[in-house]
Amino acid sequence: MRARRCHRPALAPLSSLTSRGVIDRVGPEVTTLKPGDKVVVSFQIACGTCEYCKKKWSSMCDRTNNSSMMASMYGHRDAGFFGYGHLTGGWPGGQAEYVRVPFGEVNCLKVPEGVTGESGSTSSVEYLLTGR
Ligand SMILES: [Zn+2]
Repeated sequence: MRARRCHRPALAPLSSLTSRGVIDRVGPEVTTLKPGDKVVVSFQIACGTCEYCKKKWSSMCDRTNNSSMMASMYGHRDAGFFGYGHLTGGWPGGQAEYVRVPFGEVNCLKVPEGVTGESGSTSSVEYLLTGR
């Protein structure tokens, strides 16, 4: 990730848990999104392929949170969450100017062309998408 001077608030939340922004770069495994696409990103991180994700229980994804603390406290691990500390995988939050989004095609919802204003404004956060 690269850092640059921020000229506006880094996060324009749609809710307290969701961020939105523009894709800056994509990893080699990302084929359905490209730099410049406007996206919305949830706070939870899903892989899209584990047993839980296949059942649409993405908040229980067992591939995005490697916290041994959560496993010992609760007997299992929930999905990784952006901005909730090491208990949920230690992923930095969506309040940053740049956010690395793992499993980018699973965790980014593309905002359709022509959507503007509060429902689809851009440049709040820039994303680097990865396939893993
Ligand atoms: Zn999963």
